[in-house]
Amino acid sequence: MAYDSENIFAKILRGEIPCNKVFEDDFAFAFHDINPQAPTHVLVIPKGAYVSMDDFSANAPEKEAAGFWRAVGSVAREQGVTGAGYRILANHGRDANQEVPHFHVHIFAGRNLGPMLAR
Ligand code: 5GP
Repeated sequence: MAYDSENIFAKILRGEIPCNKVFEDDFAFAFHDINPQAPTHVLVIPKGAYVSMDDFSANAPEKEAAGFWRAVGSVAREQGVTGAGYRILANHGRDANQEVPHFHVHIFAGRNLGPMLAR
């Protein structure tokens, strides 16, 4: 699947659509989800143009891949959720109901998150 540079997260990265930003470095950008599923629900996205986890894991250069995952950990620490715990989740493709075709990791926290998957 080709990257669509008009996807909503590409527009957020370019500053064309507002967001509630919580983190930015050379590799990653993070902001609050518009429809939070937990008291803390932050999305972390790479600055590079990757459609999904599959695209990112196959094609991102080492520096970008490492920088991105470091950023996910940093965002969680900055959100103050490492003590009580948090969950990360990345939806890839149809069966996972991925809605936005720019790779993103969800960070959920702030309450007991229950079972790993909804039935
Ligand atoms: P996915 O199902 O692709 O893993 O999740 C996409 C997420 O993006 C959803 O949780 C949805 O609420 C969030 N989202 C969609 N559009 C926007 C937007 O314009 N701004 C923000 N902050 N989040 C969005």
